[in-house]
Amino acid sequence: MDLFRKILIANRGEIAVRIIRACKELGIKTVAVYSEADKDALHVKLADESICIGPPNPAQSYLNITAILSAADITDAEAIHPGYGFLSENAQFAEACINSGITFIGPTPEAIRIGGDKAKARQILKRKGIPVVPGSDGPVTSEDACMKIIKKIGLPVIFKASAGGGGRGMRIVKEESEIEQAFFMAQREALAAFGNGELYIEKYFPKVRHIEIQILADRQGNIVHLGERDCTIQRRHQKLVEEAPSPVLSEKLRKRIGEYAVKAAKAIKYRNAGTFEFIVDDELNPYFIEINTRVQVEHPVTEEITDVDIIKEQIKIAKGYSISFKQSQVKFKGHAIECRINAEDPEKFTPSPGIVEFIHFPGGPGIRVDSFLYEGCKVSPYYDSLVAKIIAKGSNRQEAIVRMRRALEEMSIKGIKTNIPFFLKVLDHPDFQKGKFFTDFVQTMNNNEKD
Ligand code: ADP
Ligand code: ADP
Ligand code: MG
Repeated sequence: MDLFRKILIANRGEIAVRIIRACKELGIKTVAVYSEADKDALHVKLADESICIGPPNPAQSYLNITAILSAADITDAEAIHPGYGFLSENAQFAEACINSGITFIGPTPEAIRIGGDKAKARQILKRKGIPVVPGSDGPVTSEDACMKIIKKIGLPVIFKASAGGGGRGMRIVKEESEIEQAFFMAQREALAAFGNGELYIEKYFPKVRHIEIQILADRQGNIVHLGERDCTIQRRHQKLVEEAPSPVLSEKLRKRIGEYAVKAAKAIKYRNAGTFEFIVDDELNPYFIEINTRVQVEHPVTEEITDVDIIKEQIKIAKGYSISFKQSQVKFKGHAIECRINAEDPEKFTPSPGIVEFIHFPGGPGIRVDSFLYEGCKVSPYYDSLVAKIIAKGSNRQEAIVRMRRALEEMSIKGIKTNIPFFLKVLDHPDFQKGKFFTDFVQTMNNNEKD
C-alpha cells in the first residue's frame, strides 16, 4: 500500500505515542514536535525526527500554527496528524495545512466548523430527522427568547456554549429565579473560555447515560460505524471510565443509534474518523448532543472489540484509500473497559505533577496500556493530567471488570499521585458491576460515602 512517507504529529502525551506506533507499523517516518517542557518526552524519543516549536505554554507551542507548519516544511512531512485537543478541532489549522500542500489527517474544514458550532450541528441534524435533545432551534440571543423556550420545554434546562468542549461551558438551571443570572453568567464564561459567547438551550435530563458512536467515512462516500462506547462514568461532564459495548443497549437500539450516526455523517459530508455523541434517557430514548471531529481519548475500547485500528484507518482514508470492510463485516467480540489514569489527588481531584520516580505497568492477558510515562520522566503542570489509559478486555463484561481490577492493583507509580484508588472504588461498586448507573454515579458514590 502506498502511504505517506513522513507524518508530523501535532500533539504530545499518550496520543502522540499512539500515533507514532501506528506509523511505525505502517512503515511511515515520524516527526515529533515538542515544547521546551517536553524535550525529554517519550513521543520525542520514539519519533524519527523532532523539532522544538516553542515555550511550555500551549498557546506558544502546541497551538502555534505557524511554528507547526514550519516544522512540517523543514522536515518535509507530507501529512499532519492532530491527535485530540490542541489544534485537532481547529478548522483554520486544517485549512492552513491544505493551503501549505500538507494533508490534514482528519475531516474537512467545513465539517470541523459544523462540529465546532454545537447549536448549528443540532439544528442541521434535527432537520435530517435525527432526534436531538428538546431545546432551542439554534442559538439563543436574549433572555426573552430563553424564557419562551423554557416555558415550552420546562425546567431544568442546561445552557451550553455553542463553541464549548472538554466538559466546560455548561450551566444547569433548576429554578425560574436563576434564569436571568445564569444566562448572563454562561454568556460571559463562554466568551472568556472560547472567545465566543453564543449559547443554546437543552432540556436537562438528570438520569442519562452517555452513548457515542464511532464512525469512519472515506472520500468515496462509504460510511461505517463501529458500534457504541458507553462513557457514562463522568465527573463534571468529563469522562473517566469508558466501555464497549454498553451494558444497556439492545441489538436493536445499537443498530438504530448507529444508523442515526451514519445518516448524520452523510448529511454533513463527513470524512475520516469521527464520533457522534448521544445521551440516552432512563427510558432508553436516544438524543444527539454533539459531534467530535477527531479521534477520541477512548477510541481503544472500540479497537479492542472490533479489531479495527482507528489511527491506521485515519491515515489510509486521508491518503485516499476506501475503507477496506463493509458495515456487515463489523463484528463485536468481547467487552473492553478503559480507565483514564490522571496525575491527580484521588480524593480532591487536584493536579499532581512531578517526576515519575518509579513505574511498573500491568500486563498479562487482555491488558493494554497507552501511556507516555517512563521512569524519570516529568509530568508537566502545563498540560492535561491524563498520563495513561489502562484498557482491559474480557470475553464478557464481568471478566473485563475483574481484569481491570487486577491490572490496577498491579500498577505502581511513585513520584506522582494518580486516581487509581478512585477507579478501584468504582469497580467494586455494586451498581457499576450491575451496569446500573447514570452520569450522576460519581457524585452519588461520594455522597453515600459521607453518610
Ligand atoms: P473525548 O470526547 O475524546 O473524551 P475530551 O472531552 O476528554 O474528549 O477532550 C479530549 C481533550 O481535548 C482534553 O484534553 C480536553 O481538555 C480537550 N478539549 C476538548 N474539546 C476542547 C475544546 N473545545 N477546547 C479546548 N480543549 C478541548
Ligand atoms: P462537551 O462538548 O464538553 O463534551 P457535551 O455536550 O458533549 O459537551 O456534554 C458533555 C456531558 O454533559 C455529556 O456527556 C453528559 O454527561 C452531560 N450532558 C450534556 N447535555 C446534557 C443534557 N441535555 N442533559 C443531561 N446531561 C447532559
Ligand atoms: Mg462531548
